[in-house]
Amino acid sequence: SSTRVANFGAGPSALPESVLVEAAQGLLNFNNTGIGIAEISHRSKEFGAYVKETEALIREQLDVPSTHVILFTQGGGTAQFSAVVLNLLARHRLLHPDVPEAERVLDYVLTGSWSKAAYEEAKRLAHGATVNVVVDAREHSADGKSFDNLPPHSAYKFSPDPALIYYCENETVSGTQFGFEDGAPNSFPFHLLPDKPLLPLVADYSSSFMSRPIPRLAEHAIVYAGAQKNLGPAGIAILIVRKDCIVDVNAAAKLGGYPVPISLAYKPYADNDSMPNTPAVLALYITGLVLKRNKSLGGVRYYEEVNRRKKESVYGALKEGEEKGVFQAKVREGAGSWMNVVFGVIGEGAEKRFLEGAEKKGLKGLKGHRSVGGIRVSLYNAVSEEWTDRIVAYMREFIEEES
Ligand code: PMP
Repeated sequence: SSTRVANFGAGPSALPESVLVEAAQGLLNFNNTGIGIAEISHRSKEFGAYVKETEALIREQLDVPSTHVILFTQGGGTAQFSAVVLNLLARHRLLHPDVPEAERVLDYVLTGSWSKAAYEEAKRLAHGATVNVVVDAREHSADGKSFDNLPPHSAYKFSPDPALIYYCENETVSGTQFGFEDGAPNSFPFHLLPDKPLLPLVADYSSSFMSRPIPRLAEHAIVYAGAQKNLGPAGIAILIVRKDCIVDVNAAAKLGGYPVPISLAYKPYADNDSMPNTPAVLALYITGLVLKRNKSLGGVRYYEEVNRRKKESVYGALKEGEEKGVFQAKVREGAGSWMNVVFGVIGEGAEKRFLEGAEKKGLKGLKGHRSVGGIRVSLYNAVSEEWTDRIVAYMREFIEEES
């Protein structure tokens, strides 16, 4: 409606208006039960069926193989920084009970502030295990301290038998994202991973989930994403977990380490259709509505095409601005995210002028993260091509005015 602006916020972010209208109806009366979605028992058959249906929509659209289960959890992406460490260390203990704790290794690929945050949490929870940096993109940056690139494959040093291997596919703050063409220099180097079956490979897809296909999904142990960018409201995370990673954490605790908080253990979720306790009912509901809409539009392939056009258009305008000395990309060519385009505006007060001008045109949520500054244009699924055309037109207008 006319009261809504074009929201390019990095998260929580825009949701499709038609879904919000539908959700408002569901708040009053969920699936003709006469009870609103925030009021109905999560143990009701209607809600149970809805969770199953939502799960099926993800399985279908991402081609999730039968080796993996789909779980919905609370605590956002951050809870998964902890949960992946706790569950996969427990798995490692059960698989290798004779390995001393100090010889267990957790491998982290650092390409931005979110993988770094996950790495810091691993260090807190490692309990004597070694937390290894596979590669640190800052060492390959222009200034020696920025996450502005994807490191060359030759720089990766994976451990031979880690308890987990961690990477973040799309770095929301820095604006770098792995490519998805197998073997490309900007893609994750799957070919360099240790040659072992059932690798404990973990990927954070919080800010790119469902925006395009996930390369080599079946080879991952865990892919997870907080919902609040492409899918729904904050409050749930979606996990795709290979079945060998759902372990009895109590049995593992007898072998070493410490007990895993029950709210972070995967097994109770897997054993109880994601409802060992009350889930985030409303967030799950809206996520389901978004997924249904996605399917009707053509699923992840549809978004891949739309999102490709959107990012090409924005990066195109950015390049023009660079040529005119008005903008400056904050990430190296080839490493730029489809979802979060991050750049600086050159000159005294220019960034402020850019943001104020945008605001006047109803283009909002463009201020970059405080840690990197500049502008961040987030182009999640619900950001339409019409909105994208408007921001691109504004960028061109701004270039004209400033150059
Ligand atoms: N990982 C990534 C890539 C993110 O963008 C975010 C949040 N912006 C998180 C993890 C943390 O998620 P949450 O705020 O849900 O804990």
